[in-house]
Amino acid sequence: MKKILVTGGAGFLGSHLCERLLKDGNDILCVDNFFTGSKINIAHLMASPYFELMRHDVTFPLYVEVDQIYNLACPASPVHYQFDPVQTTKTSVHGAINMLGLAKRLKARIFQASTSEVYGDPEVHPQPEDYWGRVNPVGIRSCYDEGKRCAETLFFDYHRQHKLEIKVARIFNTYGPRMHPNDGRVVSNFIVQALKGEELTIFGSGQQTRSFCYVDDLIEGFVRLMNSRAELTGPLNLGNPGEFTMLELAEKIMKLTNSKSKLAFKPLPQDDPKQRQPSINLAKHELAWEPSVSLEDGLKETISYFRNTLR
Ligand code: NAD
Ligand code: UDP
Ligand code: UDP
Repeated sequence: MKKILVTGGAGFLGSHLCERLLKDGNDILCVDNFFTGSKINIAHLMASPYFELMRHDVTFPLYVEVDQIYNLACPASPVHYQFDPVQTTKTSVHGAINMLGLAKRLKARIFQASTSEVYGDPEVHPQPEDYWGRVNPVGIRSCYDEGKRCAETLFFDYHRQHKLEIKVARIFNTYGPRMHPNDGRVVSNFIVQALKGEELTIFGSGQQTRSFCYVDDLIEGFVRLMNSRAELTGPLNLGNPGEFTMLELAEKIMKLTNSKSKLAFKPLPQDDPKQRQPSINLAKHELAWEPSVSLEDGLKETISYFRNTLR
């Protein structure tokens, strides 16, 4: 039995990861400051003697004893990370320093939830790991994008300087049950709007693309990467290569919810990437991993979750 720390464990991805690691027979320490996460996401795990919840902000030092660390703490949706951008950068950078310091003292393996946002608005398509990206350093998305880029730098410097075993995953847009209904991400927005019979808000022309991965597929990738050979540091893309325009996504969600909602076109937010699709050759080769849940099946699960929570 391993003692595993999950920071951001009460969030969307963190709660699924805690659930999975607990099911695999590990002892979990979930650390969260509940900025975007919630106790409801992990309420079903609280009865287990092998699940422990700690309210803590990762921008402050943390002294605990664990064997592995998954560092997920950070707001992930533009609405949330732009609410307090300074705190967002602090969470990524100070949070990474503290968790790396902890990993160094414990000689523990550490996983970083990085993001496809490190590629910015990319000129290379699909995005392979060796593409350095095109990120605006001073825009409204920069607190998140540059914070995550700096966290990657810290991970690689702790690896080179202190011989830490690091695992850096670049996560592409992921969706599923326990997404925050008001976090402004496109999948949750469209589903909630469709179920409430409200207009679906399309930003810009709706021709921009994203590639959507179902949460269960992603979590499988996390666990495989964490337990891969020591030399495999990443960065490694995890995402579903299926690429869709926002208009296609809206149509699919309308169909699956039998919604009669109309579309409302809104201005495109600043620096919104035009396209995004992961190249997952590295994950296929190194982890024998690829997503297995189709967008349609994943959306059905997510819609059914929102039907129950919106009731
Ligand atoms: P989320 O907002 O649901 O979860 C983030 C969690 O971190 C929340 O529980 C929040 O309360 C907690 N948190 C935030 N700041 C903290 C702090 N200073 N100290 C302690 N806890 C803090 O978002 P998510 O979608 O679950 O994302 C989890 C991680 O995965 C994030 O690091 C995010 O950047 C990364 N990621 C997610 C996606 C995606 O599509 N969901 C894509 C790329 C990267
Ligand atoms: N740290 C922590 N928990 C630990 C060990 C370190 O939170 O168990 C923090 C500590 O506050 C420090 C940071 O991690 O600021 C980086 O630690 P490191 O040992 O790399 O740096 P140093 O302490 O030498 O500044
Ligand atoms: N988007 C949209 N309508 C919404 C919310 C988002 O058209 O109600 C668009 C947004 O402009 C972006 C895409 O959907 O082009 C994905 O947005 P999200 O915030 O989910 O993720 P990110 O931009 O971080 O990839």
